[in-house]
Amino acid sequence: MSRKCPDEGGRYKYLPKLNSYVDIVSKFIHMKGSNIMGKNDAANTRLPRRDFVKKAAAGIGAAALAGISAKETPAAGASRHWDITADVVIVGAGAAGIPASIEAAQHGATVIIVEQNYDIGGHGIESGGNIALGGGTSLQKKYGIEDSPDAMFDDLIRWHDYRFSDREIVRAFCDENVPSFDFLLAHGVKFPDVSPNGADGGPQNVLRSQTVHWSGEVSAFSPTGGNGTSLMRPLEASARKLGVQIFLQHSLTGVVREDNFSGRVLGITATHQGKTLNIEAKKGVVLSTGGHTSNVNFRRMFDPRLTEEYQVVGEPYSRQSGDGEIAAMQVGASLWGAASQTLETQARSHIFEKPYVIGNQFGYPQGGGHRGENLKDSPVAGLARAIGLFVVDFQNVIHVNQAGRRFVNEFATGFDWWNPCLESNGGKSDGGGPIWAIFDADAVKRESWVCAPPFVDPDGWFFTSQSLKELAGRIAGKYQKETMPAAALEETVARYNRFVDGGKDEDFGKPAPKYKIQTPIYFRSARPTGFNPLTASRPTAVLSPVKIRRTEQTLIIS
Ligand SMILES: Cc1cc2nc3c(=O)[nH]c(=O)nc-3n(C[C@H](O)[C@H](O)[C@H](O)COP(=O)(O)OP(=O)(O)OC[C@H]3O[C@@H](n4cnc5c(N)ncnc54)[C@H](O)[C@@H]3O)c2cc1C
Repeated sequence: MSRKCPDEGGRYKYLPKLNSYVDIVSKFIHMKGSNIMGKNDAANTRLPRRDFVKKAAAGIGAAALAGISAKETPAAGASRHWDITADVVIVGAGAAGIPASIEAAQHGATVIIVEQNYDIGGHGIESGGNIALGGGTSLQKKYGIEDSPDAMFDDLIRWHDYRFSDREIVRAFCDENVPSFDFLLAHGVKFPDVSPNGADGGPQNVLRSQTVHWSGEVSAFSPTGGNGTSLMRPLEASARKLGVQIFLQHSLTGVVREDNFSGRVLGITATHQGKTLNIEAKKGVVLSTGGHTSNVNFRRMFDPRLTEEYQVVGEPYSRQSGDGEIAAMQVGASLWGAASQTLETQARSHIFEKPYVIGNQFGYPQGGGHRGENLKDSPVAGLARAIGLFVVDFQNVIHVNQAGRRFVNEFATGFDWWNPCLESNGGKSDGGGPIWAIFDADAVKRESWVCAPPFVDPDGWFFTSQSLKELAGRIAGKYQKETMPAAALEETVARYNRFVDGGKDEDFGKPAPKYKIQTPIYFRSARPTGFNPLTASRPTAVLSPVKIRRTEQTLIIS
């Protein structure tokens, strides 16, 4: 048997079985130890921690813990056995963690990143690669766009959505936009030589946004084909070149302090293949695990309607379970700027996304690049199971709830679509229950859909039948707690067909309903909506709706 072990670059390769994983790691670290010690000595004088933290605050969007506490603190203190040691331990190899690692390494620190996933990138690698950085970047200057940190600050704090963000953080963000842009350039991120454009979901009066492009295939290198590949892969390469070690498939479980509930932070605990490792951080811990949208209980603190049936954009490749936020709160940090997560702002309506892909559980593939193609080449194919059907024209479907009733104008977007979805909709739980798209064989032709795997997921996410009655009885999805009443579905479709005859949707105002649902086979396809990360900051930005605040003993930034 062979087992996986990190090689020099932190990637995994199969090695002959050794006594234990911890042995492997210990040997690996011990081998590196003399370098680490040497570096440490130098780093003690060379690493300007305040600068490092300031940079992190301004440009990275991470929670940096220099002296925080723990969830799990057995045998805390000097007698603790450490399996791995570094100056700076970063949790999460995403859009925040990797730049943080580069910054720390450049200042002379030895750096370890602990990453839960089998590869780096997080939501960052799946993202659309739209990077909103202005304040007078070289690209803005080249295209004659006048901007400055002050002008940017003025815009952002006045903009109807961002006015709920913490101004101290917005100020730091604006001041650091140009250095952050230069940082990305210096670390291999290539922006197309075109004029910056309007920021995605931000003030549009000054052009402050640019998009990196990924035109390659979906592959192990680009797990969902997102443009974010062209952001994260160059940064990863730069981090590795600087000696950052990335421990994949290692999950943060807690932060270790001097005493159980007090004292400096000494490191973290992480699990790997069922084993717990103690990882010492001589100079600081950076928590950059993204947001908490995959954590149902956590997200329901902000909106109780966000029950389990709502999928998170970014899954299944990358989950954001709030581990970093929870660890930070355990040492006295608080979440901050949470209003953006509860108010119906324009940005939040962007956060809650109406899915355009149906027939599968996840809106896969996400991000830019080659949407909907080459699932077979993706390492997440087994998890995602199906590509889904992209809805071009919402005239081709009606949306019904778990009780078989229509409840919304299918063309609606933002909160006009979301709020009806989140209503109780015939169920007994806090959320709105599953939402189903109903369409017939003619709609399939009009949309040119292929209603077979790998496009649809017949395992609870796509059903077909010759009659509506049979279709209603067939549904057995995870979130459909009761059988859909067949009579209700038949009545709903009959009523909708009458609206098509009359050219008017008397219930929800769908503009000129066009097509009857009448041609067997009937299809029912689900995707109970999707929503974007609520708290994760944009790559290199700190306009995250929620941030973690300074506590008495730590400086924590998100
Ligand atoms: C489809 C999609 C498109 C997007 N498009 C854009 C865009 O165009 N422009 C834009 O600005 N933003 C975009 N975003 C948002 C952007 O990707 C995020 O804001 C950004 O990635 C957040 O960075 P992060 O480092 O906080 O989190 P992530 O990039 O998600 O990184 C967090 C990392 O932490 C790891 N982790 C989590 N828990 C643990 C644990 N316990 N132990 C160890 N590791 C852990 C995760 O596996 C992950 O790798 C998009 C997001 C998605 C999903």
